[in-house]
Amino acid sequence: MTKSAAGPAPGATFSSFTPPARILMGPGPSDVHARVLDATARPTIGHLDPAFVAMMDELKELLRYAFQTANEVTFPVSGPGSVGMETCFVNLVEPGDTVVVCRNGVFGARMLENVRRCGGVPVVVDDDWGTPVSVDKVEAALREHPEASLVAFVQAETSTGAHTDPAPLVALAHAHDCLAIVDTVTAVGGVPVRVDEWEIDAVYSGTQKCLSCPPGLSPVSFNQRAVDRVKARTAPCQSWFMDLGLQLGYWSSGARTYHHTAPVNALYGLHEALLMLHEEGLEAAWERHRRNHAALAAGLGELGLALLVAEEYRLPQLNMVVVPDGVDEAAVRRHLLGESGIEIGTGLGALAGKVWRVGLMGYASREENVTACLEALGSALAAQGWKG
Ligand SMILES: *Cc1c(COP(=O)(O)O)cnc(C)c1O
Repeated sequence: MTKSAAGPAPGATFSSFTPPARILMGPGPSDVHARVLDATARPTIGHLDPAFVAMMDELKELLRYAFQTANEVTFPVSGPGSVGMETCFVNLVEPGDTVVVCRNGVFGARMLENVRRCGGVPVVVDDDWGTPVSVDKVEAALREHPEASLVAFVQAETSTGAHTDPAPLVALAHAHDCLAIVDTVTAVGGVPVRVDEWEIDAVYSGTQKCLSCPPGLSPVSFNQRAVDRVKARTAPCQSWFMDLGLQLGYWSSGARTYHHTAPVNALYGLHEALLMLHEEGLEAAWERHRRNHAALAAGLGELGLALLVAEEYRLPQLNMVVVPDGVDEAAVRRHLLGESGIEIGTGLGALAGKVWRVGLMGYASREENVTACLEALGSALAAQGWKG
């Protein structure tokens, strides 16, 4: 047998990629506004160009608005939300540190993995998928582990659609001399996130959920307590790339030096998306997410479909719809994508095949999307002969 030559087969042709028209109503990425896409298409300039540096300063200011914080250390890490998560853990967890990790979905489990890989000693607080983190269980864990130095949890669990109120958990962490790391990847822009009022010590988010940017950047913010903890480390941060001190050599105001080449065009996009959020106003954005969620929930009810999460804990931006008995979950998603260009998500982990995840995140949270999705769901279910 002759070995095939490397490279394309003879006669193969290639052309530029044009993505199909889609309405992104899954768990992310969400629809990106044309203004943001246009911004990312502007000419690339140097990442140390004075004009770019001025834009970075504005971007940090806009991020502080989105996070509702005055924290000096607020900037976007180059990398998806998972890199923001890891940035918080690798800087704040030293080998041997006891960390209370709350796991009520996929992303809490990912936090746990981070703690382990940092050499931390995890104390896991488990709650059912689709329910919030239990304050009582966290309190019991903290009483049992007075040596704990951190509490970590997810505000908006995208894998289950459940919302956890950060305020009481952060207060509890502080009462036990712990810092709090909060995942707000899906929360920011969709529901209130008040970093300063709630005194969250370290927080990270993502761009492709309610901020409606292309994926690939992760805004983070550290308060003074967290910065002091990082400075007091005895072991150096095991990640060179995510080392906060090195990152700040580029992102803090003043003498900016090369650390890595910043994703210049992606940052134009984030700047534009944050500008749009500022123009709309956070309160108005939260209200829009609430309104469109209510319309979707009402319409799903009319179709005879149920939501998994109890009403008081539902995330407006991520709706967990229970797949009725006898309905082919994947076929419905294929129908929506094929007939209407609408992408919705499937369940993760234990919920795979049992739910649809319908996102109304950021720019995708619009009345016409709610209507289009309900119509498409109705016709997909009818195609399977399901009566409701
Ligand atoms: C999406 C998401 C992440 C991970 O973000 P990536 O950009 O996919 O790495 C982390 N936490 C939550 C709650 C998320 O929804």
